[in-house]
Order: sequence, then structure tokens, then C-alpha cells
Amino acid sequence: MKLNEIKQGQKVRITEVGGEGALRQHFLDMGVIPGAEISLVKLAPLGDPMELRIHGYELTLRLSEAEKITVEVIPETVVEQKKKTVKKEALHPGLGEEGKYHPKGSGNPLPEDEVLTFAMVGNQNSGKTTLFNQLTGSNQHVGNFPGVTVDRKDGVIRGHANTLITDLPGIYSMSPYSSEERVSRDFVINEKPKAIINIVDVTNIERNLYLTMQLLEMNVPMVVALNMMDEMTGNGGSVDINRMEEMLGVPVIPISAIKNSGVDELVSHAIHIARYQEKPVYHDFCDNTANGGAIHRGIHAVIHLIEDHARRAGLPVRFAASKIIEGDQIILDSLNLDQNEKETVEHIVLQMERERGLDRSAAMAEMRFDYIYRVCDECVVRPAESREHIRSGQIDRLLTGKFTAIPMFILIMALVFYLTFALIGPFLQDLLAAGIEALKKSAMAGMEKAGVNAVLQSLVSEGIFEGVGSVLSFLPIIVTMFLFLSLLEDSGYIARVAFVMDKLLRKIGLSGRSIVPMLIGFGCTVPAVMSTRTLPSARDRKMTILLTPFMSCTAKLPIYGFFASAFFPKISWLVVTGLYVLGIIMGIVMALIFKKTLFSGEAVPFVMELPNYRMPGLRNVMQLLWDKSKDFLQRAFSIILIATIAVWFLKSFDFRFNLVDDPHASILASLAGLLVPIMKPAGLGDWRIVTSLICGFLAKESVVSTMEMLFAAGGVTAAISSATAAGILVFSLLYTPCVAAVAAIRRELGRIWAIYVVLWQCTIAWIAALIVRLITGA
Ligand code: GDP
Ligand code: MG
Repeated sequence: MKLNEIKQGQKVRITEVGGEGALRQHFLDMGVIPGAEISLVKLAPLGDPMELRIHGYELTLRLSEAEKITVEVIPETVVEQKKKTVKKEALHPGLGEEGKYHPKGSGNPLPEDEVLTFAMVGNQNSGKTTLFNQLTGSNQHVGNFPGVTVDRKDGVIRGHANTLITDLPGIYSMSPYSSEERVSRDFVINEKPKAIINIVDVTNIERNLYLTMQLLEMNVPMVVALNMMDEMTGNGGSVDINRMEEMLGVPVIPISAIKNSGVDELVSHAIHIARYQEKPVYHDFCDNTANGGAIHRGIHAVIHLIEDHARRAGLPVRFAASKIIEGDQIILDSLNLDQNEKETVEHIVLQMERERGLDRSAAMAEMRFDYIYRVCDECVVRPAESREHIRSGQIDRLLTGKFTAIPMFILIMALVFYLTFALIGPFLQDLLAAGIEALKKSAMAGMEKAGVNAVLQSLVSEGIFEGVGSVLSFLPIIVTMFLFLSLLEDSGYIARVAFVMDKLLRKIGLSGRSIVPMLIGFGCTVPAVMSTRTLPSARDRKMTILLTPFMSCTAKLPIYGFFASAFFPKISWLVVTGLYVLGIIMGIVMALIFKKTLFSGEAVPFVMELPNYRMPGLRNVMQLLWDKSKDFLQRAFSIILIATIAVWFLKSFDFRFNLVDDPHASILASLAGLLVPIMKPAGLGDWRIVTSLICGFLAKESVVSTMEMLFAAGGVTAAISSATAAGILVFSLLYTPCVAAVAAIRRELGRIWAIYVVLWQCTIAWIAALIVRLITGA
């Protein structure tokens, strides 16, 4: 039987994992291995993907991927409960006694002035960010990993000046599956941190330890932070910490990142092992008796064969051996084996496969899980079913239920939009505007008094205060939007949204996760682009960013409102709705084109964890808001400031650099004049319209006000026909996003893409306006 055929509630055992390459490796790394038990929790409301339970956690898989996995039904009678001896909980291990379960520090500490670098490695949702924020407080720096737009956070541990800790993207294994996993793996291999802090979600310990097993192979000093201990003990579970340390050969420290307990202890151990370079005791978890010792012999044969190559390549030998057995091409290349050795490796691995009766990747994954089962059996007393898990199930009955999921999603998003754009955002915006106005008044008064010349006054009032002010007015909306988003993300809801929406989004070549940035795009493109950071693949992120500008943002609403009610009063609501729909249709068309051309690769497979719902930590949320605001402000005062001043300059001066009275004489008007012939076929060949549209590049809100000003007597309505109005509407819908949005795109995708977006959107808008003109016959 195939996995996609199982019924709800049915419990089956995996017999074979098909598929190939990186995807298959990912299955295995997530614990989908032969022998594992798996059951269907539910199907998504649209019938695809499926939510499965395996190793005590929830996993989503598309039907087409589940089809590659063969399973067998477990007869009811075999399901029996093993009784476990209860071990007493040991919150404070005997680890202060240095070197009890791992080698004693050599007595040769690293010099005091050497910076102790730490890598924080762990699964997604294991609490890395929470712990990182606890460890560093506000001493952190957000940047990008070189070459990729994946957030990189560095920080100094509070109270320990000579330390630097890096929060790596969440990963499930050391096989490079997504670009994030590459980043994390390369960091550990190439940047050689002095020690690793491996954070493990104790409520989901089997799958989390899988990464731990691979990290141990790196032979870098390491501590394991067992996080979420509060949930574990709160439900009557416990962990025999001392025994676990003994079995893993590294310090294990139970903590609760969110309650800040155990964190100090973690820090002192981490610093100690880094200072004294205490490496893990073992990296050898292959049992020489299990399954005839086939895997053990295979791995060690390869280890001996490649020892010298690994040393030369600077790779830990056990890690290198495991990876080339798994068929990791990158590691194989960096080892530089000669033909003979490559063939020998292949022979050894073939022999191992034959003796074990499993293919190489599955055999390796199984070997690791074997050890993990043993560790868990001996050390972990699991609670029957945690309250948090039961609660999650109940919440999910509503939020991912067959008939309730989509209505609830619409309701929640509507609420977020209402609060952001109607209630909290405007309130904060008014506050900010009042502040800026007051500042402007006093600045102007000051300059008046000091007799500053009129040009400079105009620059400050119209250029800086008006321009940057109008962009700054986005800030409250961005902050509010991100407040809600981070609450949804941290609580675990966004993962559910992806689960529910995946089938729809797949049709246009994206995965479920892209729905959120696109929806935010209806509010404002800037936070939408910024929020694509949560997307797991670079391809999806890029494609989503390029599509968000088609979701008509709220700043365009004044344009729609003005022209629709002036020219199409009877059907104005229809016109506005039609514009929104047109935007969406264009987005879908573009997505289909992208799918066929630029991004013809596969959408990422949807193998994703659905974590328990958890209360978001206040500190995380605050930190995120601060990061996003800082990011936006930095841009507001660099690229956006320059753009504003440039437009102010063009608007205020003529070619002889005299201040102009008549707007027609300004450089901007002349430039607009150059564009007039281009815009003429599209029916928008009036310099005043063109000028207004250029000003709209700064902020879409200003299109109408500029037009009103330029058309002077009689106003816009008297001067243009309804066909032209229709053209303006369609053009405004589709043409380049505003400068703030372009700056956000540039930050995510680089300059080339930002320029591409501007030009491409303008071209599309031009064609659309041309079509409108042909239809209306104007
Ligand atoms: P990351 O994906 O690894 O960065 O994980 P986060 O730090 O974002 O944490 C995921 C979720 O777990 C958040 O909702 C946190 O509030 C929550 N969380 C983190 N640490 C703990 C903990 O020690 N106990 C409990 N109960 N929840 C935690
Ligand atoms: Mg995080």
C-alpha cells in the first residue's frame, strides 16, 4: 500500500521510501525511514496535502510525494505499550564536575583574548531565536550571510565580552537540502566556530536528536541545550540528564528559553567547553552488532580509506565518510579522491547495502535513529500526551478543519487588515504626522529667523519633510503589520496557512507559504516583500516578491476612489473591484509565465513540520519589531531620502537652476515632456498626467494631489475624458511600485531585480493602458 492511500486514524509502518536525490534524503532526515510508524491526522481542506504523525510530531506531505512511500498496516493486536521505569527528573546535572562524561579540559585553555565563537544550531521551532534573544539581549547585529539573503544574526553573550554567537537558520540535518541548510552547514564547516550550541526541542526529541547525531560527527566542542523543559516536566515527563550526557558524550543542559531558566548554566558550560576545547567523547554511533554490523564495518572501512584526504580538505573524517556514503557530491568533490579510491568506496558501500538489505541513505538514517531510540528508551520518560498537543489538536479542528479552515483564515486576515489599516495604523500615523508637522514648523520657524535662503527652505519643507515624511508614514503600518504577523508566525499559525493553501498556490508554481506575503501586498508592498524572509526556498521567495506588486496596495485606493467616482459614478464600486481583480489576474498570468520561463524549476516539495501552537514570547516579538523598523528607517534615510531630494529638485528648478513659479517650466515637466511621446499611444500623453505619475513613484497617494495642482482651473475632471481616466486607473494599478517598495525589493533581491521590476511593471502597465485605449476607441 502507498502512504497516500491510508485512512484517517489508521496506523501503518513504512516499508520502503522511494523517490530520489535531495528530496528523498530530506524524507529520511525528517524521520520518514523504513520501520517508522506513521498515521494520518487529516487531509487539508482542499484534499491535499496530508498531515501525518510520525515520531511524535506532525508532518505535512503532498499526496504526490506520499505516493513514493510504501507502507504496511500494523495489525491492531501488535500495538502494545511498553512499560518504562520512571526515572527521577534531574534538572541540575552533575556537570559542574568538569569532565565527568566528557574529557577533562586539557588545562590548556585558549588565550583570554581569543574571541569564543559559537554557532547556534537546531531544528526549526526549537526555540533558537528565543534563546538567542535571551543570551544576547540587545547586543545583536542583523545582517545577511554573504551571497544569500538569509538573515544572519550575530551577538555577544551578555556579561561575556569576548564571545560571539551566531543564530543559524533552522535545519533538520547536515545534508544540504535548501539554501538555508547549506548556509548552516557551510558555517559549521568553513567558519570553524569554537563551539556549537545545539538546541533540542525536548518535546520532540527523537527527530531533534537526528541533527545532534550529525553534529557530533563534526568533532567540534558542543553542548546540547534541551529546550522546552517546562512543557516536558509540566506534563509529567522527565529526562535522566546524567545518563543522556553519558550516552552522547557532551554536556546536556535542560533549559526553558522562554522562562529563562537554565540559561546561565548553559552559558557557563558553553564557555567552558569552548575555552578548553573539550570535544565530544564519541562520534561513533554505529553499533557493531546491529544487523550483523554491516553499517559499522562499511563506515569504518570508508573512514580509513579517506582519512588522509579528509585531513587535507579540513573535514572531520567521520562526517566526511557518512556524507560520501550518503552520496553527497559536494563533500565527495572536496575530498579529491582518485579514481581507484572512488571505486573502492563504491564497492564498500555496495557491500554494505547488500548485507544490510537497505539502500545507503536509508541505512545511514536508520543507523542514527537506532541510536536515538536507545538514548530515548534509557533517558526519556515521555508524558502520555502533552496538554499542549491536545490543545493544538483542538485549535486545529477549527483552524484546519475541512469546512472551517478557509473561513477562519479569511476572518483572521480580515481582522489583521482591519486592525492594521483601519484602527491602529492610522492612529499611529496621525500621531507620527503630528510629530513631523510640529518638527517641520519649528524647523521652518528657525530657518525663517536665521534668514536661510528660500531655496534651502523649500528643500527642507517640500523635499525632506514632505517627501521623507510621506514615506515615513508607512512606518506605523509596517510595525503594526509585523506585530500581527510575528504573533501568527511564532504561534504556529502560518505553517497551518501554508498547509491549507498549498493546493491552490501550487497551481501557479508556488507553495502554500507564499499566500501570506501576497495578502499583505494588498495592504502595503513594503512589509509584504520584507515578510518573504520566512519562505523556505530562494526560488519561491524571488517569485513571490516579483508577484506582490500586482496585489493592489492601499496607497492606490485614493486614485481609484477619485477617478471611479468622478467618471463612473454609477458603477464606481464595480470599477474598483474590477481593478483589484485585474491585478490578481495579472499576477496569476505572470506567475504562469514565470513558471514556464525564469523559474522553471520545481516548486519546493512541501515536507514541513506543523509545530504545536505556542504562546509567542514578548521579547521575540519586540526584537523583531525593532529589527524591522530599524531596517526600514535605514532605507528611509538613505535611498529614499536621495530619491525624494532628486524629485524635489527636478520639480522646483528649471534648466538654468532657477526656482520655477510655473510648474510647466520645471525640469520635471521637461523630462515628463520627453516621456509624452512614449505615453501617447497609451492615451496618457499629457505632460501633467505624466508628471503626476512620476510623483506617484514616491508615494502613490500623491498622484491625485499632483494632478489637481497641475490641472489648475476646472480641475482634472473637466480636462480629461472618461476613456483617459480608465487608462490612468489601469496604468496606476500596474506600473512601478513606489520607491519604498523598490528599495525593499532591492534589499532582498539586489539592484538588477529592482530595476527589472520598475521597467517590467511600467511596460506591462503601458501595454494594458494601450489595450484600454484600443477598447474604448479614444
Ligand atoms: P526557532 O524557529 O528555533 O527560532 O524557534 P522560536 O524561538 O521562534 O520558538 C518557537 C516557539 O516556541 C515560539 O512560540 C516560542 O515562544 C516557543 N518557545 C521557545 N522556547 C520555549 C520554551 O522553553 N518553552 C516553551 N513552552 N515554549 C518555548
Ligand atoms: Mg527563529
